[in-house]
Amino acid sequence: MGTNDITKPAVLVVAGTDSSGGAGLIRDIQTLNELNVDALCAVTAVTAQTHIQMMGIQHIVPHVIQQQIVAAFASRVPAVVKIGMLGTADTVNAVITSIPVSINVPIVLDPVLLSSSGSVLLNAAGVEILQQHLLPRTTLITPNIPELAALLHESIADDEVTLIAQAQRLLGSGVTAVLVKGGHNIGSESVDLLITQNSPPLRLAAPRVAARMRGTGCTLASAIAANLAHGVSIVDACKQAKHFVLQKLQEL
Ligand code: PLP
Repeated sequence: MGTNDITKPAVLVVAGTDSSGGAGLIRDIQTLNELNVDALCAVTAVTAQTHIQMMGIQHIVPHVIQQQIVAAFASRVPAVVKIGMLGTADTVNAVITSIPVSINVPIVLDPVLLSSSGSVLLNAAGVEILQQHLLPRTTLITPNIPELAALLHESIADDEVTLIAQAQRLLGSGVTAVLVKGGHNIGSESVDLLITQNSPPLRLAAPRVAARMRGTGCTLASAIAANLAHGVSIVDACKQAKHFVLQKLQEL
């Protein structure tokens, strides 16, 4: 029955498109499909890019983003909202104001700040609005190490103790949980750190795979959103999603 099969949960993906198919909305929808979750979507930006170069970005006007989110919720209430590229402060505002507060849907936020080729995917004003108004409504944020530093306006941490302290400071913005992705770090293991308000920090370790894949951040956050949509706890959703990404890298 495809997208109308209500036996499957649905995730609303709020994201940019990537014409190379490497990251963004296509990656998100592929991941949700593989994990047996239907996708609803709101496109925030259209990007023209190859695997190595950003050729153009068109931000979608805020009222059209709002309309997409309102229409998605009117079609079917998603179990989880997964947010990727936002681009501008106006977009962040449009997204915050159109996700209904009354429904209290969990939000998984991948704070996409830069493309792999170095283009800015969220401007400085957007980062401020995200910190002040989106983080208090976010269930789980999934920064990599440089994104965590940028969100706090601090320098990039180079050890686990500093990373944990930074993630704990980010909890001060009201986000329920922080998953710091260590994938681009060095060492024989890829270690992610899950920091929550009431439990000790959790290390999620996996063997480091030499293969590189664009869109690993999108895949991880979408897999977490899919697992949460199936009713899995935050800890298990993160563990299973990390395993899912590892499998994808091993298949390359
Ligand atoms: N969303 C879009 C539209 C992108 O172009 C990118 C990176 O280029 C991302 C998200 C983030 O990708 P990643 O999963 O590699 O962090």
